[in-house]
Amino acid sequence: MRTLEELTFDNTYARLPDVFYERVQPTPFPSPRLVSFNPAAAELIDLDLNEVARNDFAEYFSGARLLQGSDPIAMLYSGHQFGHYVSQLGDGRAILLGEIRNQKGETWDLHLKGAGLTRFSRDGDGRAVLRSTIREYLCGEAMHGLGIPTTRSLCITSGDETVYRESSESGAMLVRMAPSHVRFGSFEVFFYRRQHENLKILADHIIQQHFPHATEAENPYARLLHDVAIRTGHMIAQWQVVGWSHGVMNTDNMSILGLTLDYGPYGFMEQFNPEFICNHSDHQGRYSFQNQPDVGYWNIRALAHALSPLLEQTHVDGAPEIYEQAFTERYSELMNAKLGLTEQHAQDDALRKGFLNLMHSSRADYTNAFRSLRDFHQDSPNDNATIRDQFIHRDAFDDWAERYRERLQDEKSEDEKRKIWMDSTNPKYVLRNHLAQKAIEQAEEHQDYSEIDRLLNLLTDPFTDQPGMDAYANPATADSTPIVVSCSS
Ligand code: AMP
Ligand code: MG
Repeated sequence: MRTLEELTFDNTYARLPDVFYERVQPTPFPSPRLVSFNPAAAELIDLDLNEVARNDFAEYFSGARLLQGSDPIAMLYSGHQFGHYVSQLGDGRAILLGEIRNQKGETWDLHLKGAGLTRFSRDGDGRAVLRSTIREYLCGEAMHGLGIPTTRSLCITSGDETVYRESSESGAMLVRMAPSHVRFGSFEVFFYRRQHENLKILADHIIQQHFPHATEAENPYARLLHDVAIRTGHMIAQWQVVGWSHGVMNTDNMSILGLTLDYGPYGFMEQFNPEFICNHSDHQGRYSFQNQPDVGYWNIRALAHALSPLLEQTHVDGAPEIYEQAFTERYSELMNAKLGLTEQHAQDDALRKGFLNLMHSSRADYTNAFRSLRDFHQDSPNDNATIRDQFIHRDAFDDWAERYRERLQDEKSEDEKRKIWMDSTNPKYVLRNHLAQKAIEQAEEHQDYSEIDRLLNLLTDPFTDQPGMDAYANPATADSTPIVVSCSS
């Protein structure tokens, strides 16, 4: 375990040509203080957990001091936003402090979000508000707890600085970590600028750092694209099965490593509705829940197009299908696992849709309806009343339950065994908006950060019943304040 002084940087991205980034120092805010710290992420960089007690800890993660070896840069990228190409985006408020190499030889980007103005800030102020920082911090770890590839969250700092959005709010900074923050848009920028040499340098860099096996392929870039298509398909399948919407699936928010990246107006669905739109600014519903798999396809096509100078046309054309196949296979597998089915049968799609339709027509809670299926009895339908009571159309449930029972019998499923397994495929706790909101309100109004830590702990282990925490599995009540979340806060 290492002290802050002992962390070792190996800033591979900052050694790329200057055009890839702007060298820029974070802008600190007055009186920095620590809001929350996540030991699980600290362990990934071998950081000694006692270091958090240091008086100067918050200073290092709020731009007031730099860690030795840090070489801060804002990364250049562009991207397709809501279907339209925007030629220059880049880190407008996040700064890559550097890459830490841990004792296992892995590198982790330390990314400070809300760190102040950069060349890419456009009209923004370079800041992040405490509210959105808490949401990103918690969701990164919640997704990790669910087994979904994601950026990780190290800590949040705040200080005496007010940030203006619709009203004035507390400013904050988030330290997030990932093996790389390179996005589809990092490639697109060089393609559309016709800087094909830089495109190649970036692709070579990513292959060398993260896809070394691709160097053995006949065309390493084709292999890279193939692997990214598969990772992206798997990731989006995982989003769909937990009922999660990203909200802003622009190509600048799509990680080249297939990680869930840039948590903004995301949402876990409560009442199941395939048309769920979590982003208040998404008026057309481009990024609605049910559209996410197709947007993934669109985004992979955009990436393939950006990489086309390095590829043959067949690779470019084939990538979306590779994505689609990876998505479909993983989705079917994971959805069946949620139903407690170990095998894949031809009619399973209809069975899965049947359950989703039941939920939809009854506006049942997505997470809880799936979790309740653990108690399904094959032989005594009367004992299924608790599950049945969640649905308005009882006859429709009975029909579905009969098909489900037959399907379970087909694979000789045993109720007791299945129940144990289904507890690992259907989470009890997800980061419902109202849960995050409570943590945010306590933080904003009372500088009480305990609820953030409580949620962090809970969501690290979302599949296990945790004593005294049942209320955290409840959906928002009708009288909860509606929570509006939109882009870039
Ligand atoms: P996002 O919607 O958060 O993915 O951001 C899209 C683009 O806007 C990225 O280039 C961000 O860096 C930039 N951006 C978002 N918010 C701000 C802000 N407050 N200040 C500067 N740039 C921002
Ligand atoms: Mg973004």
